Amino acid sequence: MDADVIIIGAGPAGCAAAIRLVQAGYRVIALERKDHEDGEDITSGEVLVPTTQYECNELGVKFEGDWVLDEITGIRNVYPDLSWAYHPIPHSIRPVQVDRGGFNAALRKRLVEVGGQLVWNARVTDLAFRNDCAIAHTLDRSEISARLIIDASGRYAPSLRTLNLKSEDPEFSQIGVAVFFKSFEGTPLHTWDRHLYGVRGAMLSGSRIRPGLFRYILEADLAEKKSDRLGAIEFYEAIAKQHDCWLYERIMSEPRVGQHWSMAPLGYRVSAVARDRLLLVGDAAGYLSPITGQGNEFAMRTGRLAALAADVALRKGDLRAEAFSLYVEGRRREVERQVDYVRAQLRILRDPDALMRAARDDDYRAQVFGPYGIPATERGYLIS
Ligand SMILES: Cc1cc2nc3c(=O)[nH]c(=O)nc-3n(C[C@H](O)[C@H](O)[C@H](O)COP(=O)(O)OP(=O)(O)OC[C@H]3O[C@@H](n4cnc5c(N)ncnc54)[C@H](O)[C@@H]3O)c2cc1C
Repeated sequence: MDADVIIIGAGPAGCAAAIRLVQAGYRVIALERKDHEDGEDITSGEVLVPTTQYECNELGVKFEGDWVLDEITGIRNVYPDLSWAYHPIPHSIRPVQVDRGGFNAALRKRLVEVGGQLVWNARVTDLAFRNDCAIAHTLDRSEISARLIIDASGRYAPSLRTLNLKSEDPEFSQIGVAVFFKSFEGTPLHTWDRHLYGVRGAMLSGSRIRPGLFRYILEADLAEKKSDRLGAIEFYEAIAKQHDCWLYERIMSEPRVGQHWSMAPLGYRVSAVARDRLLLVGDAAGYLSPITGQGNEFAMRTGRLAALAADVALRKGDLRAEAFSLYVEGRRREVERQVDYVRAQLRILRDPDALMRAARDDDYRAQVFGPYGIPATERGYLIS
């Protein structure tokens, strides 16, 4: 066989699993579809919560270098009546924004440093499983064999397609639309500026990512976008126009840079995350919503859990689906917590009265916004 373990996709989940398995003494090949590092990439997944930073430290990846961008030290919540409250984030739970391209590169550099084999330009198109091995087929018609495959290749993972494991999740069916600006007058620096309307599941939130680059991203119910029959940008502008004259004025006048992007549906389910000789981790194992800013944390945690379960199974020589219960159970516990949290957040995004209560009531706000339901130090109105 070419390796003990094939990892498909050298993103956060893949690197988190691969680095640990190499360190445990296994021969690991990580197959990455791209042919080189991306350079700056600010499209999704740039807000890293402290637990993600902790997972990185555990892997020996330090948070330093020019890929580490603005730290977020406060949240400004803007409510349906355009009143706002500023909540300073305690030091211990401050998120940091990163350039995703640089973040991925730091993880991959670490993988190579510990002795992992990273193969670029290796897009996996198909998988095959035999009694004694698993095989990854790549676009250039190579066949790579190993005892186990860990698919960490994100939302379009080949195992989801070839084994038909993915389904829509109507409860978490949202659209994301992001627009980038060179400047954005009135956006406080180092602040997550979160505009909450209580209708259509809509939230428009943004920040300065680094000097000269601001982003405001809309998350909203996908069904609303479909019923409006608008294009993604028209829908984005229409939500701002209807609910938020402050933001709308700026969205229409500030200089836009780069390409806007949109993605839908953001959330989906996966029916099985462990099969004989196959584990799915990170986004390849399912995705809920970016609301929590924890996608990378979850990717790295599931990568860690999968590496532990794979180590046990490889040592025992039992690579049947049932042998991965350690992973399946560990992941299920994490997912359940997240599902409850996202469900509560989406409920409040559709309820203007609940939002207005959250604006005033510290205990209630802490209940619905979790660790970021911090007491306010300043209050005001966006418009006089
Ligand atoms: C709108 C939006 C905003 C988000 N915001 C945040 C946020 O602020 N903070 C946060 O933590 N998370 C956020 N997320 C989630 C986060 O981006 C993902 O959860 C995270 O990137 C998942 O990591 P991963 O390793 O599972 O997959 P990915 O990061 O997608 O990595 C997959 C890797 O596999 C490679 N690959 C893909 N297909 C193949 C193939 N066939 N063969 C070989 N290689 C392949 C890819 O090139 C890539 O390197 C957001 C997501 C969305 C959609």
